[in-house]
Amino acid sequence: MGFEKNQIYTVTIEDIGAEGEGIGKIEGFSLFVKDALPGDVAKVKLTKVRKNYAFARLEEIIKPSPSRVEPCCPVSRQCGGCQIQALSYGKQLAFKQSKVENNLVRIGGFEPEMIREIMEPIIGMESPWHYRNKAQYPFGCSKDGTPVTGFYAGRTHVIIPNTDCLLGARENKRILDTILKHMRQYQVAAYDEGTGQGLVRHVLVRKGFFTEELMVCIVVNAPGGRKREWIPEQNRLLDRLALLPGMTSISVNFNTENTNVIMGKETCTIWGRDKIRDRLHLLQADGDDFIKTDRSVTYEISPRSFYQVNSTQAERLYSTALSYAELTGGETVWDLYCGIGTISLFLSFGAKQVYGVEVIPEAIEDARENARKNGITNVKFFEGKAEEVLPEFYGTAGEGETDMRHPDVIVVDPPRKGCDEVTLETILKMQPERVVYVSCDSATLARDLKILCEGGYELKRGRVCDQFCHSVHVECVCLMTRNK
Ligand code: SAH
Repeated sequence: MGFEKNQIYTVTIEDIGAEGEGIGKIEGFSLFVKDALPGDVAKVKLTKVRKNYAFARLEEIIKPSPSRVEPCCPVSRQCGGCQIQALSYGKQLAFKQSKVENNLVRIGGFEPEMIREIMEPIIGMESPWHYRNKAQYPFGCSKDGTPVTGFYAGRTHVIIPNTDCLLGARENKRILDTILKHMRQYQVAAYDEGTGQGLVRHVLVRKGFFTEELMVCIVVNAPGGRKREWIPEQNRLLDRLALLPGMTSISVNFNTENTNVIMGKETCTIWGRDKIRDRLHLLQADGDDFIKTDRSVTYEISPRSFYQVNSTQAERLYSTALSYAELTGGETVWDLYCGIGTISLFLSFGAKQVYGVEVIPEAIEDARENARKNGITNVKFFEGKAEEVLPEFYGTAGEGETDMRHPDVIVVDPPRKGCDEVTLETILKMQPERVVYVSCDSATLARDLKILCEGGYELKRGRVCDQFCHSVHVECVCLMTRNK
């Protein structure tokens, strides 16, 4: 059958693709259909035809999927922030669980029965809304020239105006409306990517979920330097923002580059503190549930630091990682890709000594300060790449430092591209009893676990944790143990 652009087909959607699109088949030919869900029978129009597959637009849903729900957000379809809001939350969780299991089987080479046996039930949220502790809103101009903010439509830089995102903190709306009002009142222009003109590029809002502290960082198209007023009538804006309950830190960040990178290198606090705090509690598993213990860690967070966007789920993820580490008080543990020390400080509760490694110098500074402020003394942080720091210690640690060369546990939490090969090789040489792998990309996780298995480890436990409800992103944690 010859497939051509603009042809219309009726197709049953069977699966969800990497970016949340529905996937259906006609005579073995795959169609990728944005906004279609598994179970939908839909009329679709081909928009781009390739050799073995095509992209298609959803024209009409003939029979809706039983898993379809009415999205709560009025712009969920246009906005690129969520991809699967129209899928019931229960089905979202099932999709994420099977995505991880499939990758472990397909890429990792594990037996399907074994994977089904070892995987524990996914950790979902009771209420999957208003969970993000961080949001970055782009600013731009509407057709009539007034400033707007919202989120980009998928794969574009077209702003879908919306100050009331249902995934973000409830406070975001008032903050953004206050800034927009100020911009209109004092003719402050939004940045225009095309011309490089205009001032306000992005606004970053962070909230300490358990402290209720708020941080606002306004990214401006200005060179920084010693001036103190970068936004016209800055003090009037500060007066208004400072009135909002919980406001703790207001800063400007300078970015004059023509780039997609949101923040520039220099940040200047213009009101309040440089950082906000959040507190994460150590939880204890209670069946499939979690209960709070009396232990917690307080973290200082700067505008540019990495911090898990979902505090509620981060507690569950880190507590699960800690339980997988099976610490009894005497262990030496490496925490690779440690960021501001979030997991390291949790591990310190159960270990004799923890060593953290992280490539971003500011994050290492934050990690050290976090340890100090929490009175935690059994953690040491090293700045550098995991693939460089770890081999260095393996090679050079002398007598009396065998604990560092042969730790009991190594925890890794790499970015999406996974661990460097050198890191995996060094882990195999160090022969820890357990490796706990925290991952935000199950494809690279599966690839790396396969290498660890070939090097003498066995996959023992795994659990998916839904950090990013309504999006297709998936976080999970796995335990590998060394074969005797
Ligand atoms: N464990 C932390 C951070 C995880 S995000 C937390 O849960 O908060 C991954 C971290 O790895 C980021 O902080 C990133 O800066 C860091 N990173 C990226 N590449 C790295 C490398 N090659 N070596 C060490 N750290 C790296």
